[in-house]
Amino acid sequence: PLVLGIETSCDETGVGVVRGHTLLADALASSVDEHARFGGVVPEVASRAHLEAIVPTMERALKEAGVTLGDIDAIAVTAGPGLAGALLVGVAAAKGYALAAEKPIYGVNHLAAHVAVDTLEHGPLPEPAIALLVSGGHSSLLEVDDLATGVTPLGATIDDAAGEAFDKVARLLGMPFPGGPPIDRAAREGDPAAIPFPRGLTAPKDLAAHRFDFSFSGLKTAVARWVEARERLGEPVPVADVAASFQEAVCDVLVSKAVDACRERGIGTLVIGGGVAANSRLRALAEERGARHGIAVRAPRPRLCTDNGAMVAALGAHLVARGVAPSRLDLPADSAMPLTIVSV
Ligand code: ATP
Ligand code: MG
Ligand code: FE
Repeated sequence: PLVLGIETSCDETGVGVVRGHTLLADALASSVDEHARFGGVVPEVASRAHLEAIVPTMERALKEAGVTLGDIDAIAVTAGPGLAGALLVGVAAAKGYALAAEKPIYGVNHLAAHVAVDTLEHGPLPEPAIALLVSGGHSSLLEVDDLATGVTPLGATIDDAAGEAFDKVARLLGMPFPGGPPIDRAAREGDPAAIPFPRGLTAPKDLAAHRFDFSFSGLKTAVARWVEARERLGEPVPVADVAASFQEAVCDVLVSKAVDACRERGIGTLVIGGGVAANSRLRALAEERGARHGIAVRAPRPRLCTDNGAMVAALGAHLVARGVAPSRLDLPADSAMPLTIVSV
């Protein structure tokens, strides 16, 4: 099917077009620069930017794909989770286009879309698969029995998300927002073994209650304490070593638990999604440890890991192909949509 996807859950206005597993267009407008000086996304600023960007981004995507709205089989839109006002802009736009062009609409889960986007890179996802979903607002391990209808959470962060940890540590190292890319870059010049930062929820007593859960707030505090101690001594902060050691602590825990989940459940496919899946060390470490245990590791190209419209279109195409019924035209935006609901 030819499916158009609209994404406005945070600070990227994305419109993507796919035909089955083939990506035809991925138009993106970001308000990230407007948020940078606040060190995080400002909801009102994001909503207004979506309003301004949605129509031009839509037109750009259709042009890039070389199709018209009339050619489209279905429109998919992120219905949640995300910023309420931001979601509303995309949902309202999708409804308008669906009504005007008489097309079915699918209100989909942004997090399931972060997983589904990998099908554009590697084709159909073997089911069951384990998904490691690591983004700015979420960090979860899921068992994906059926990407169209059934994902089972195995664990999640009990405090900060992995992307949030990158953003906070970047800030205290004086790097710009969002912090993932500059830490990734700085870490390439550093020693990942320089500083033994803590691996949250990996001690035997923690594993009993939190087998597949994550915790990153202790790590963030440990980095802050370490940097402060250096500054108190009047010594320079070895930024590259701190970045590399922090990144290693995050990736080590994420990959260990993801590989354990695969082995424990007897599942041979691990898919990584969400903005942090763009991280070069996370990808390399998952690849390396997956290979050691006969687990096929899949991750979309970095541009498709962070928010975009193509991921929403990819999930929409999968729902159409599986014969899932479309949503009602009065579908609500749900800022707190649970991970277990793939489409509304
Ligand atoms: P959610 O998907 O939970 O609603 P979000 O949509 O805001 O949150 P994404 O766009 O999926 O989040 O991911 C953004 C996050 O990814 C940011 O925290 C950013 O720092 C992080 N990130 C992006 N690139 C990298 C990278 N190379 N290394 C580590 N983190 C990265
Ligand atoms: Mg973003
Ligand atoms: Fe996201």
